Amino acid sequence: MMDKIVILGTAHRLREPGKMSPDGKLREAVWSREIVLELMQKLKEYGIQTYVDFTDLDLPKNMQTPSAKLERQRELALRVNEVNSLCDRYGKRNVLYVSIHVDASGSDGKWHEPCGWSVRLSPEASKSSRILAENLFDAAKKHGLKVRQPSPRQKYWEQDLYVLNRTHCPAVLTENLFMDNKKDADFLLSEEGKHEIERLHLEGILGYIKEIGTKEL
Ligand SMILES: [Zn+2]
Repeated sequence: MMDKIVILGTAHRLREPGKMSPDGKLREAVWSREIVLELMQKLKEYGIQTYVDFTDLDLPKNMQTPSAKLERQRELALRVNEVNSLCDRYGKRNVLYVSIHVDASGSDGKWHEPCGWSVRLSPEASKSSRILAENLFDAAKKHGLKVRQPSPRQKYWEQDLYVLNRTHCPAVLTENLFMDNKKDADFLLSEEGKHEIERLHLEGILGYIKEIGTKEL
């Protein structure tokens, strides 16, 4: 069996409107890239070859436009192309994709009540994607995060998201607490919080690799 290749997904672009805490201290694009780079180091220490779908904070200058919608489409296409070209290179069964985001319940620039951690996958997701999501969920719970799930039996939410629907390998997206919940946002910006988020992804990914290695789905 071939070793698994991990692709980490960063969140959005700096130019994407919104996507920050009401006090402006947490910017999802910046926070996600910090976590992804740190997590990549940790995975490499375990000898796991790791890629990032899109490291820059914004699109190259020649791809930027005043239209946020068009930029978003270009960004998502870049991400999916990167993931699928790695799937072609290594074989989609040997690759896994985890996109790292922060949730929000409002877009009015105010603090809100909803809080907690969740994981998403495509309604068409493979069994492998579901196992990956479950491993991440178990790790988040183990780390004491308040986990959000659709029902007591199901550990992940099904959601139509471009990077989940279009990528060929097992793929999930984590929503790491809420940027518009004050307590969550403060935790995410703390050293302890960043460490916990990195650890849960590391453990979830390692748990998946271990579990899937015995199954060959
Ligand atoms: Zn996001």
